Amino acid sequence: MIVTRFAPSPNGPLHLGHAYSAVLAHDLARNAGGRFLLRIEDIDGPRSRPELTDAFRRDLEWLGLEWEEMPAQSTRLESYEEAARGLLRRGYLYPCTCTRAEIEALEPRLGSQGAIYPGTCKGARLDPAKPAALRLDVDRAMADTGKLVWEDALAGKQVADPREAGDVVIVRKDAPASYHLAATLDDAADGVTLVTRGADLFPATHIHRLLQALLGLPVPRWHHHALLLDESGRKLAKRRGSPSLADRRSTGEDGLLLAEQLRLHRFPSGISLASA
Ligand code: GLU
Ligand code: ZN
Repeated sequence: MIVTRFAPSPNGPLHLGHAYSAVLAHDLARNAGGRFLLRIEDIDGPRSRPELTDAFRRDLEWLGLEWEEMPAQSTRLESYEEAARGLLRRGYLYPCTCTRAEIEALEPRLGSQGAIYPGTCKGARLDPAKPAALRLDVDRAMADTGKLVWEDALAGKQVADPREAGDVVIVRKDAPASYHLAATLDDAADGVTLVTRGADLFPATHIHRLLQALLGLPVPRWHHHALLLDESGRKLAKRRGSPSLADRRSTGEDGLLLAEQLRLHRFPSGISLASA
């Protein structure tokens, strides 16, 4: 049985790129007699705006999608804490008190997830008064798991390369999990078998595959789809003026028709699908 999901974060309204992603995930499941899940990823602290989640549901309804809603991330904090405690006990995490500015000042190399953390705090004596995040010791973890592979429906078989992102944050200073830990645990808990999301998250999957190996979680398949781009070739974003789905709804646009057009890759003028 194919189980897909759409996992938006309520820190901004959904736009056309989200609609494309949701319709695709929905159809991949429905066309195979599977299940399509909605999961609200609301552990972004002050950036999370709870009032947006109702608008998300109305957006999906407007597009003609049916889904099963899973518990929001904010209700699953204990499962993140438990997993993080286990990883810490087994020596795969280390505390890091660095601030973003301190890391920037070290002029780190850039990886897919931003600055590659230079490992300053690993094995160092830290000031206990400073708030600490927990980072994944990728070298240590990889030494124990050995080579890991995963499969993308479009890009094919991949060898996991989590070193490319470096020692990413697993437990944030302000939340009991980072996106990487929460999404990996939730996809397993929700029984997702095909993780469908934009190609911008392709590199994150290397980390998720490593976390699955460390945590003994089932390994799904992935489908990273191309992103929708605006006329200047950039990823759609509300702040660059692409109208939200809520804006489109409120002008009386036909959502069912929009979903059909997205299925046929007929996009509004100026919008195109990135070439792979
Ligand atoms: N919540 C993430 C976002 O909105 C998506 C996570 C995922 O699909 O894995 O960017
Ligand atoms: Zn540090």
